[in-house]
Amino acid sequence: MPRRSAETAFGEVEYDTVTCTSCENEVAKTDAKRFVVGDVVEYRDWSSLGKIEYNFDPDTLRKGWACPYCASDPVKYPVNKMTAGQLAASAVSIGFGLLVVGWVMGMFLLQVMP
Ligand SMILES: [Zn+2]
Repeated sequence: MPRRSAETAFGEVEYDTVTCTSCENEVAKTDAKRFVVGDVVEYRDWSSLGKIEYNFDPDTLRKGWACPYCASDPVKYPVNKMTAGQLAASAVSIGFGLLVVGWVMGMFLLQVMP
């Protein structure tokens, strides 16, 4: 699980990343959804304990991570796999957004000071 860092107006932040099993984009772990798919061979209902247990056929069992795009529309993705350029562009826009927030806060502080 690679760990990445990003430079923001407020300093460097670090975050864990995972690779989306569907589209293979690297996304922050906090944004990704864990999933398990496969043929269910056994099913136990522990409703009174608030729990349902599934046993999967080990031959069809697949575990993975899904990025927010694939998790919200698993059938459609990974049709729109983001290119490296698009990923860089979204990183730049996040960085720019943080700079704007920092600038607005700076202006606010200037106005409050006597
Ligand atoms: Zn994905």
